[in-house]
Amino acid sequence: MMEQLVIIGSGPAGYTAAIYAGRAQLKPILFEGFEAGGSPGGQLMTTTDVENFPGFAEGIQGPVLMQQMRQQALRWGTQVITDDVIAVDFQERPFRIATTDLIMYTHAVIVCTGATAKRLHLPGEERFWNNGISACAICDGTNPLFHNVEIAVVGGGDSAAEEALYLTKYASQVHLLVRSDRLRASKTMQSRVLNHSKIQIHWQVLPISAHGDEVLQQIQLQDQITGAISELKVNGLFYAIGHRPNTRLFEGQLALDSQGYIKTTGKSTATNIAGVWAAGDVQDHLYRQAITAAGTGCMAALEAERWLAEQANAFSFAA
Ligand code: NDP
Repeated sequence: MMEQLVIIGSGPAGYTAAIYAGRAQLKPILFEGFEAGGSPGGQLMTTTDVENFPGFAEGIQGPVLMQQMRQQALRWGTQVITDDVIAVDFQERPFRIATTDLIMYTHAVIVCTGATAKRLHLPGEERFWNNGISACAICDGTNPLFHNVEIAVVGGGDSAAEEALYLTKYASQVHLLVRSDRLRASKTMQSRVLNHSKIQIHWQVLPISAHGDEVLQQIQLQDQITGAISELKVNGLFYAIGHRPNTRLFEGQLALDSQGYIKTTGKSTATNIAGVWAAGDVQDHLYRQAITAAGTGCMAALEAERWLAEQANAFSFAA
């Protein structure tokens, strides 16, 4: 199979790139993923209220927004394939894209594989994963395991604040475990967390191990100043400690920075390989917003359209 443009990833960046490329009649193929990077639709699939995406004065649910973007991409002729890309070869042209089921060749690629939540890898974490420990309150918080019990959330950013607030709907008490003496979350989120009667903040502590029998029952905390170890009886432990870019697939293929994010050139979304662009959280550790991801998805599609038009003779098709 030979294609003009393949988009890998299905968050706001991928769908926006697909909408623009579809409208430019590039007949994009979009691999929305199956398991890699979480779930098709990206991180907004595990978010409830999105209140800062322009155009939705009353806010919109993350999965609804992604469903709308997907529908819009389909409407403009995108072919969506639900499969994980497992290998790429950008060293030879046309580029080669492989899943477990197919091999596809393409002149251009837009990478929008996003980022994944980090874990702490505590002793006991594997044992209690999905039995009390999770990295997504919004996915797992409704589990009866977490109803009317005490729960801990690790982190001090917007994700931790959002998860702690969300979990107050179900838990009897939420303990927010912050490793430093300050919250990194926005002022609005800080104020919501600090003023919530069900949230107790533990400053300068880190969980160091998880204990229980069938399910999580207790964690050990270490004070980061004194080193003292204490116990906290909780039936839930949620990680909200940041993200890692989903770029393993591109190691040795694209230039990555020290944290593994794809390097892009200047104000563009161009990577070090002509014909490959990167958009969304996979190349952005600074803004990481749905709207900035969508914006860079748009940029990547416009840049790809222009580049494909310039290469049209070489590739012998009318772009
Ligand atoms: P951040 O990187 O902003 O925060 C990560 C938090 O986890 C920090 O408090 C950090 O501590 C802590 N942390 C990191 N590693 C560890 C560790 N090993 N052990 C304990 N704690 C740790 O990540 P977020 O996911 O919260 O946010 C990412 C971006 O997404 C931000 O730009 C945020 O504004 C945005 N966002 C926006 C939302 C919205 O607008 N509704 C919702 C969620 C996120 P320290 O401060 O000490 O480094």
